[in-house]
Amino acid sequence: MFAADHMTRDQEMIKASADVYASLHDRFSGDLLRPGDSAYEDARAIWNGMVSRSPRLIARCAGVADVQNAVRAASQAGILTAIRCGGHSLAGFSTCDGLVIDLSRMREVTVDAERRRAWVSGGCLLGSIDTATQKAGLVFPSGVVSHTGASGLILGGGTGWLTRRFGLSCDNVVGMKLVTSNGSLVHCSGADNADLFWALRGGGGNFGVVTEFEVKLHPLTSVVIAEGLCAEPHIRGLLECWRDFMAEAPFDLKWNIDLRLAPKTNKVPVELRGRPVASSSIIWTGDTESGQPYLKRALSLCNPDSVRSKVSSFLELQTMADLDFPHGHRYYTKSGYFNDLDDATIGRLVEAVSTMHSWESQIELAYLGGTAAQVAATETAFGDRSAPFIMNLLASWSDVSADADNVSWVRGVFNKLRPAMKPGVYVNFMSGDEQDRVPEAYHEHWDRLVAVKSHYDPKNFFRLNQNVPPRRLRQEML
Ligand SMILES: Cc1cc2nc3c(=O)[nH]c(=O)nc-3n(C[C@H](O)[C@H](O)[C@H](O)COP(=O)(O)OP(=O)(O)OC[C@H]3O[C@@H](n4cnc5c(N)ncnc54)[C@H](O)[C@@H]3O)c2cc1C
Repeated sequence: MFAADHMTRDQEMIKASADVYASLHDRFSGDLLRPGDSAYEDARAIWNGMVSRSPRLIARCAGVADVQNAVRAASQAGILTAIRCGGHSLAGFSTCDGLVIDLSRMREVTVDAERRRAWVSGGCLLGSIDTATQKAGLVFPSGVVSHTGASGLILGGGTGWLTRRFGLSCDNVVGMKLVTSNGSLVHCSGADNADLFWALRGGGGNFGVVTEFEVKLHPLTSVVIAEGLCAEPHIRGLLECWRDFMAEAPFDLKWNIDLRLAPKTNKVPVELRGRPVASSSIIWTGDTESGQPYLKRALSLCNPDSVRSKVSSFLELQTMADLDFPHGHRYYTKSGYFNDLDDATIGRLVEAVSTMHSWESQIELAYLGGTAAQVAATETAFGDRSAPFIMNLLASWSDVSADADNVSWVRGVFNKLRPAMKPGVYVNFMSGDEQDRVPEAYHEHWDRLVAVKSHYDPKNFFRLNQNVPPRRLRQEML
């Protein structure tokens, strides 16, 4: 019997990580961090404090050659590998006890103002893109929190304040460079490896490590931001109004509603503090005057003392929610789509607020439609553009002893709402315990995604994601 037969999983991981380290250390330009190194503790943390792992090695790449070498060495050693851009995976997929390929040193953004194009490195945060593109008065449509990683967000689809006006983030990508599971650098676009290009726009991190996105930009420097809180007795009425209003609203209008317990801060009218409220954030991207009737209508059901409206810079918009989602807090989420918000569903949503265990939790409601819904379903691998209502149950808390209560609140509310939901889910809003929902997330795209995965990653090297297993592995599992 060989010595290897007696190895435990842990010993195998130690040996594999030592092999990767030995293979990389002479030719790696970035940082190789191991337990005990001074930068290691900070480097191992990810955004969701519910997920804590101790990688044997963190390979913080300084460029494309580092990524290629890390993928080749890891693939050869057979070590479990996570890919990290901003570390905001709600599911915690960007860490593991094996190897982490960390792209946080690769945050370059190059803008061509004349052609309205940008080239974005694979480790960029949304804030790095916004800062660079605003210097030229341009925007890339992305998400609502500037410390989110661009790669994870774009590859899953990417929704935000500008989605109705300019489409999903992935709709604004014109080309990508990625390192595939054998370490090759591949370019894809509409004309070049078109199947891979299709799959990467919505299919998540299944196909390789994206080192660069080429994206389209649009002119925009300011917006109108209107906000207001609606007190408990009027929440049902507000949701009914929102449901009907958004179906007819212009593409310049984005109106998101968070159902939550109002924070006990000076900004909130005294009578609402700690009470269930619907918190509206309404963004108008067109000319200020023509937006006024829409904003007025949307705010009409809010408590007048809570209403605020002002013209703001795009950078202010993109950072206004940053402090609401701190790194290291504990988070758990479940999400789904509705074709329609019927009265019974609205009733359940309102009831759910008063059973929340944490004042930091919220039920996020967004209406898609607009430009994103006009792109043909077959154009990209993004799961579902047709269901207008997206709901995200997001529990957020800080005390470890409250884990069970918060997780069970999310699961309980989800189970009650599930019968009224449209099958499907946005992969970037899924938890790490929902692998059974991945085929549901991609439904009619599933077979095509499996075919692309089988070609580019036949051994499922990239498996820490909402995973599309390659054909051979699927057959072995049956
Ligand atoms: C505070 C917060 C706000 C959010 N807001 C929005 C929002 O407004 N709109 C929205 O659509 N989503 C939003 N999300 C969800 C977000 O899109 C996902 O969590 C996304 O995965 C985050 O990307 P990241 O690069 O930070 O993730 P990471 O945790 O770094 O990576 C997540 C996964 O993406 C893949 N990946 C990352 N980088 C690469 C790469 N370079 N190449 C290949 N695969 C890669 C890997 O599979 C990895 O496991 C938000 C999440 C958080 C935590």
